[in-house]
Amino acid sequence: MSSKHLVIAVDGPSGSGKSSVSRAVAQALGVGFLDTGAMYRAVTWWCLEHGIDLADRQRVAEVARDLRLEMGTDPSHPSVRVGGREIEDDIRTTQVSEVVSKVATNTLVRPILQDLQRELVRRIASETGGVVAEGRDITTVVAPDADVRVLLTASVEARLRRRSTELHGEAGAAAVEATRDQIVRRDADDSTVSQFTEAAPGVHLVDTSELDFGQSVEALLGVVRAQAPDKVPA
Ligand code: C5P
Repeated sequence: MSSKHLVIAVDGPSGSGKSSVSRAVAQALGVGFLDTGAMYRAVTWWCLEHGIDLADRQRVAEVARDLRLEMGTDPSHPSVRVGGREIEDDIRTTQVSEVVSKVATNTLVRPILQDLQRELVRRIASETGGVVAEGRDITTVVAPDADVRVLLTASVEARLRRRSTELHGEAGAAAVEATRDQIVRRDADDSTVSQFTEAAPGVHLVDTSELDFGQSVEALLGVVRAQAPDKVPA
């Protein structure tokens, strides 16, 4: 994958700020963006819409193979389309969030989406001059030879607080408890198939527990500038 284009791989657990920080970094660098979690969500959404049993591993893998996903790559306009229909909002519902791990842990689905992600990373990078791709296994499986590989992490408390504020508008005790399933249980399920709690060799750890959004963006940009000085657009 090493080319003249800048490829940045970012992994991390839920609530680490991975998506929003990666998007802001892509914007700052003027390159494309790929949200790979959105692809697992889109397959999940389609199965729910069409009454496909998520426990039917073969059938769900067929959906992953046949679904013609169109991933938006503009970091300022997140978009996922299937058959011309915009599903960006549909894939973010609690209903999808609660069961997406069943698709993400389906080992027949993963290689199909990973291949598609490799192809997208290449295409976005050549079309826009670079790409920030984020997920759970980008630094290790999808793009292990990316120019810059970062594991964005934060303490469980910080992640619960952030996601709770995002979902419920506050981070009081009850709201935090209501968020726990989406952070702790989901990451526990997902970590059975991807390693995103510790940085693999060569992957830079950025801990955002004590950082606000702007500081997190600067921290990631700092790693990019240090690791790929020749490829960072002026
Ligand atoms: O990041 P997001 O919450 O949108 O991810 C949706 C689901 O897809 C999560 O369960 C996550 O663990 C999984 N995922 C994955 N591999 C990726 C990206 C996301 O298993 N590369």
